[in-house]
Amino acid sequence: MTKLLHQLGDLTAVRDRDALDGALVRAIHDLLQPQSSAIYRIVGEPGNERWLTSAQLQATQVIPTGDSAWAPLDSLPPLSTQPLRQRAIASLQVQQSPCAPCRTVFPLAGQANAVAVLELGSAVPLTTESMRLVSGVLRLYLNFQSLLDYGERDALTELLNRKTFDDAFLKATSEQRLNQAGTQDERRDTHSSATYWLAMIDIDHFKRVNDNYGHLIGDEVLLLLARLMRACFRFHDQLYRFGGEEFVVLMRCHGEAEAADVLERLRTTTEEHLFPQVGTITISIGFSEVTPGDTPSGAFERADKAVYYAKEHGRNQVCSFAALIATGELLSQAANIGDMELF
Ligand code: GH3
Ligand code: MG
Ligand code: MG
Repeated sequence: MTKLLHQLGDLTAVRDRDALDGALVRAIHDLLQPQSSAIYRIVGEPGNERWLTSAQLQATQVIPTGDSAWAPLDSLPPLSTQPLRQRAIASLQVQQSPCAPCRTVFPLAGQANAVAVLELGSAVPLTTESMRLVSGVLRLYLNFQSLLDYGERDALTELLNRKTFDDAFLKATSEQRLNQAGTQDERRDTHSSATYWLAMIDIDHFKRVNDNYGHLIGDEVLLLLARLMRACFRFHDQLYRFGGEEFVVLMRCHGEAEAADVLERLRTTTEEHLFPQVGTITISIGFSEVTPGDTPSGAFERADKAVYYAKEHGRNQVCSFAALIATGELLSQAANIGDMELF
């Protein structure tokens, strides 16, 4: 009992979603000592969905490991390779496979934008008592996850809210700094040669939508645009609603052309989408690369200047801050925005 309370205390002490998954597998491990415990999440777009290992712990390990959140989708195993997990998710019932080793899969239902399972490997089938214990811990884990969602996500669109942006940004810049300090061989790896990009997305003439159709229809447009964004970006890109009709994306790309392509795809998808009652809307997008010494407000300001330029020059377009500086369309003094003040 004391052990259980300690484990639950550790589980609810974390505030970071990745750390929460690690804490869950560790808690299950310490309570039941299975051969392995792991959380697998479904990622990717419909038709090409994959299993991402969010946290896993083998009997011989001390610290949980997992796939990098930026793992290329194609490197992950397809859904169909794990029918037992698929069955657990489809039926929302615990599934067990015959022994040596036994696999017991618990569906993790009730999360925003994610479907996941907890899978335990054991030499003998789990007892009814153990299954009950795991189900109880999972209920607590899911409730705690919703609490984190409540604090970190926008209630209308379920995208991340502004509060979590600074932390995610600082994580990204420190990772970028470490990466630059790495060896050339490490940098040649396609995964680590990508850099972070920040894009700001603003709906054009959104006030007219509200004025003409009312606030509720306006809200529906925001909700539907958030859905288009989810479909356009990759599973690991971080999507935020910064308030009102402004959205921000923190993504990893190999160079400006790739970033521009992804954003251009969102712009055309939005332009072509038919929104109920409203018909069509357009968006203006500004983006900038995140540099190792960047500050969140600096990168934000550069993307904002590029959006402003797009608004001033006809809207419904994607503008790169660096390209505007290079062509002289924005003053070059603005190029230093975001560099860390050292003294
Ligand atoms: P621009 O093309 O220059 O961006 O024009 P705009 O009308 O989109 O921009 P402006 O900043 O003048 O107006 C933004 C409008 O967004 C004002 C407000 O009516 C609307 N808005 C802000 N937050 C919300 C919201 O949560 N729901 C709805 N329905 N409307 C919102
Ligand atoms: Mg705006
Ligand atoms: Mg606007």
